[in-house]
Amino acid sequence: MPQRIPVVEKILSANDRLALENLFRLDAARVFAINMMASPGAGKTSLIEETVRGLEGRLRIGMINGDIATSFDADRAQAAGATAIQINTGGDCHLDAVMVQSALSQLDLGTLDLVVIENVGNLVCPADFKLGTHKSVLVASIPEGDDKPYKYPGMYRGVNAVVINKIDLLPYAPFRMDFFKKGIEVLNPGVTQFELSCRTGEGLSGWLAWMEGQVKEFKKNPGK
Ligand code: MG
Ligand code: ZN
Repeated sequence: MPQRIPVVEKILSANDRLALENLFRLDAARVFAINMMASPGAGKTSLIEETVRGLEGRLRIGMINGDIATSFDADRAQAAGATAIQINTGGDCHLDAVMVQSALSQLDLGTLDLVVIENVGNLVCPADFKLGTHKSVLVASIPEGDDKPYKYPGMYRGVNAVVINKIDLLPYAPFRMDFFKKGIEVLNPGVTQFELSCRTGEGLSGWLAWMEGQVKEFKKNPGK
C-alpha cells in the first residue's frame, strides 16, 4: 500500500514564491510598493506623474514601468522627478515577479520610500501574477465605459483601491457612475475609491493623501 503524505502546506507557484521574496526585500528596505493596473489609456502614467509631483519633498518615489515595447512612460515619470526603471516585456501582456525582481535590483531602494509599478495596460492577466507589492490599485477611466467591472471581474475583485480617472469627461460620455459603482461594490465591497482628473487636478488631493498615508502606516511597522 503506497504511503500517503498529507499536504499541509499550500504549494506556492514559482511566481508566488518569487513575489514573496520581492516583498521581503521591500520590507527590509522599508520601501512601500504598489502594483498599478489598468487598461491601455486609462491614465496610469499621468497618475504616476501627478503623484510624483504632488508628493515631491514628502516621499521619494521610484517607478518601474512595464511596457511591451517602448520607454515613453518611464521617460515621463523620470521627467516628473521619479527614478524610473523600464521593463520591456518583449510581447508579454503582464508583468511577473521575475521581471520585478530584476527591476528592483536596478533601483537604489535605500533612497526610496515608495515604488510604483506600472503594469502593462491590460484588464485580464495582470491580476493573476503577484509581483510582491504591498497594495494594488486599479485605474479606470470614464471613456472606457461603465461596464468594465462586469466584463473584467477578476481585475476588480482583488485590488485595494480603484481610481476613476478623467471625471472631467463625464459630461461628454454615456457613463452611469451608479451602475459602475454597483458593479464594483458587488465584486469588492467597501473598496477605497477615488474620483479624479489628472488633467484638471480635481480630486487629486484625496488620492495623494491616501498614498502618503499608506506609506506612513507601512513605515511604522514594515512587514506587518
Ligand atoms: Mg502608461
Ligand atoms: Zn498576460
